[in-house]
Amino acid sequence: MLAPSTVCLMLFLYVSQSAEGATEQKGLQRMATSQAKSEDSGSPPRLQDFLAAFELKSGTETADQDYFDRMVAADDVFENDQFLSPVELEMAREVVERLRDVEAFVGHGRFTTLSFKTVFKHSAGLASRRFTVADIRFLRDIFNRSSELLGFNGPRISDQFLAGHPQDALTFYPKYGEYLLSGEASGQFERLQAELGASVMLTSGYRGHPKQMLLYLEKVVESEGNLSLASRNRAPAGYSFHFTGDFDVGDVALGEQSFSRRFLKTAIYQSMLRAGWVKWRYPSHNLLGVRFEPWHIASVCAEIACSGG
Ligand SMILES: [Zn+2]
Repeated sequence: MLAPSTVCLMLFLYVSQSAEGATEQKGLQRMATSQAKSEDSGSPPRLQDFLAAFELKSGTETADQDYFDRMVAADDVFENDQFLSPVELEMAREVVERLRDVEAFVGHGRFTTLSFKTVFKHSAGLASRRFTVADIRFLRDIFNRSSELLGFNGPRISDQFLAGHPQDALTFYPKYGEYLLSGEASGQFERLQAELGASVMLTSGYRGHPKQMLLYLEKVVESEGNLSLASRNRAPAGYSFHFTGDFDVGDVALGEQSFSRRFLKTAIYQSMLRAGWVKWRYPSHNLLGVRFEPWHIASVCAEIACSGG
């Protein structure tokens, strides 16, 4: 295994070779250059070396242009995509409705903090919309599915279906109606705001398993049961770094549009590139099976899963 810094450097060099937007390329090249000063890197790595540096698990070591095409066209349907059966798709529709009911009952912000344990407790109070045993079994089954079966390439973050973080471990940001894990994550966001100004907004913070499951299954339902398509856009519950502190930022002026490539053109993103210490979880050409997400900030940089900093 190569040292993390070497992996990061290789990633920068590889990304800077790509045909991404010129602005992004410039920023990454700048970062690559500063990193390259401390290491005698020679020429950019070959694709195989780049992939090998991530110790890819089976199925992804042959990642090639097809893989990157899928990530760019994340909403297209591809051969070998994994699908729910028609019966399971019906179950997915049902649990999405039930999860939305609880979300409406406790409020959007609060819902992001709940564990399945608390969700089921709240749902018991909603007489007409209780989760049935079959619903709970389905949710648990989806949660426990391997990444291969979900068409996802990233690592599992939590294998505890009922796990969650207590309210007092979270910091609430009333302005955005979002929470962050107190410590690394909240400190990082506050530093970003202090350095770049109040136009940096928190668009999505901490997410418990039910919130992540809802986001994932909404995409699954929308795509008629395509688990892989959903995985390319949203990490399945149990595989999301939002559970361990990652968060999404945006530009106040863009609002919801921050979750698009328009964000690359903002002064905020450019300043984040210049700041140097910001770490991204899903850079362009990442191998975690997730599309390029320039708004998703990594709170703790695991060696295979970050870029920058
Ligand atoms: Zn995110």
